[in-house]
Amino acid sequence: MHLSNDTLGDILAVVDRLTLPHKTQVLMETDAGAEYKEWIDHDALLVQLRDAVRSSTGAHPGAGGLASERSVIDSDALEQYDSIVAQIRRLYIEVTDSTPFKQPESNLRAWFIEFRRQVESRKVGREVIEAKYRKLNRIASSIEAKLNPPTVLEITAPCPRCQATHATDDDGIYRRCLIVESRITEYRSLDHTRARCLACSATWIHGRGMRQLRYEIDQAEKGELAYTVEQDAAVIFSTIEAVRENV
Ligand SMILES: [Zn+2]
Repeated sequence: MHLSNDTLGDILAVVDRLTLPHKTQVLMETDAGAEYKEWIDHDALLVQLRDAVRSSTGAHPGAGGLASERSVIDSDALEQYDSIVAQIRRLYIEVTDSTPFKQPESNLRAWFIEFRRQVESRKVGREVIEAKYRKLNRIASSIEAKLNPPTVLEITAPCPRCQATHATDDDGIYRRCLIVESRITEYRSLDHTRARCLACSATWIHGRGMRQLRYEIDQAEKGELAYTVEQDAAVIFSTIEAVRENV
């Protein structure tokens, strides 16, 4: 992970994502296949996770549903939320003797103000600053992964670049080597869609990349078909030759 010189700015950006409503830009696609970017509003990640605990219909704010559905508790989300609340509380206690607030958002924002003060008065080393940044980033990423788990699809065609069909993935599992990972945040969004080959690491990203991959597979299949026809023809000709010789 590379940190810019403005590490406090980087930390504040993560704190904001966790504690404040924010916007992200996603790549969308029109019916004609043209890509465009659109801003999408999100609640604070901590608020979204808290909502997810009590919602069986996902993390969308105001995602109604029947009362019976709303009363379902997502125990994974609850466990994750409790753990994050405790981590943020520990951060807060590290920097102040004041009583923690009830909400983790308040604790985290109060922590940042105090932590920035310590950094500015040079009481904190660079390693500590970077460790805090990594910790908060892990928390934010874990919430995003929970709210929006990636869908993984396998493509049965061989890789058009290296022709491999199978390879071993990061978890040591032998599987088809062309995989597509997608995080569909909104309808038609192609942001965070990525195809890659586990064998040769070729990568295709976003909508344009998906179309490129489709094209390459088609071309490879055409090539393979031509090859098969040629091979069949060679077999037929050699069979004819053999028959002639035996006549
Ligand atoms: Zn490949």
